[in-house]
Amino acid sequence: LLALRDVRKSFGSGADRKVVLDGVDLDVAAGSCVVVVGSSGSGKSTLLRVVDLLEEVDDGQVLLDGEDVADPWVDADAVRARLAMVFQQYNLFPHLRVLDNVTLAPRVVHRVPRAEAEAAASAMLERVGLADKARAYPDQLSGGQQQRAAIARALVNGPELLLLDEVTSALDPELVGEVLDLLLSLRHEGVAGRPTTMLVATHEMSFAREVADEVVFLHDGRVHERGTPTQVLDDPQQERTREFLRRLR
Ligand code: ATP
Ligand code: MG
Repeated sequence: LLALRDVRKSFGSGADRKVVLDGVDLDVAAGSCVVVVGSSGSGKSTLLRVVDLLEEVDDGQVLLDGEDVADPWVDADAVRARLAMVFQQYNLFPHLRVLDNVTLAPRVVHRVPRAEAEAAASAMLERVGLADKARAYPDQLSGGQQQRAAIARALVNGPELLLLDEVTSALDPELVGEVLDLLLSLRHEGVAGRPTTMLVATHEMSFAREVADEVVFLHDGRVHERGTPTQVLDDPQQERTREFLRRLR
């Protein structure tokens, strides 16, 4: 579904130039889950933002079903309609009820009639366990509930790929579990019987272990190691990976 080929990205220029992605290759097959791990500043968010076309690449290809979407001529909105991203800070619109947050994009961007959009949104809220919160405002929800609502909003258009950037790192520790459990269930049982394809950046190694088909270790914008969770997290071959995992303990 998704393939990155030798993707390069830097910020700034001259002496301030900082290479953030230094030739990254990555594949996400339909139905699979790839988890990117690495220290703060290693380039995880930038990688996800490049896929969601929030950042332009300097060089390399971002292939979606073989089409290079990093090409400036592609219709970015059409590409983004196939993807959905959830961020660290649950960014629900505070003045809209949960249901309206979830129906907003279908109604405004995709011109789905209200009744139809609300039916789809209600079904998705049910799926994430928030059926009873549809009429509530975001500030009446816990952080974990808000993040689950943001996930419902991301999924309501049936994206082919879900991008998740540290979706639990802003949550109180006791709320992390409910969000990770939801993601595990989306990964394995999926929505309407279809497993959700995911590209995830996380600091939660136990979650990575449970959810990932492949773990990719990023350091200074380069993939230093990749493999199954067991290979990368239990038996890392690279000193940098070992050092990273040691520091987490
Ligand atoms: P974290 O685990 O803290 O979320 P990360 O792996 O997601 O880190 P990125 O956010 O991708 O890391 O940032 C990688 C590097 O790129 C950092 O050094 C950051 O300062 C730099 N960077 C990111 N976005 C920009 C920007 N818009 N302008 C300049 N530098 C940026
Ligand atoms: Mg980040």
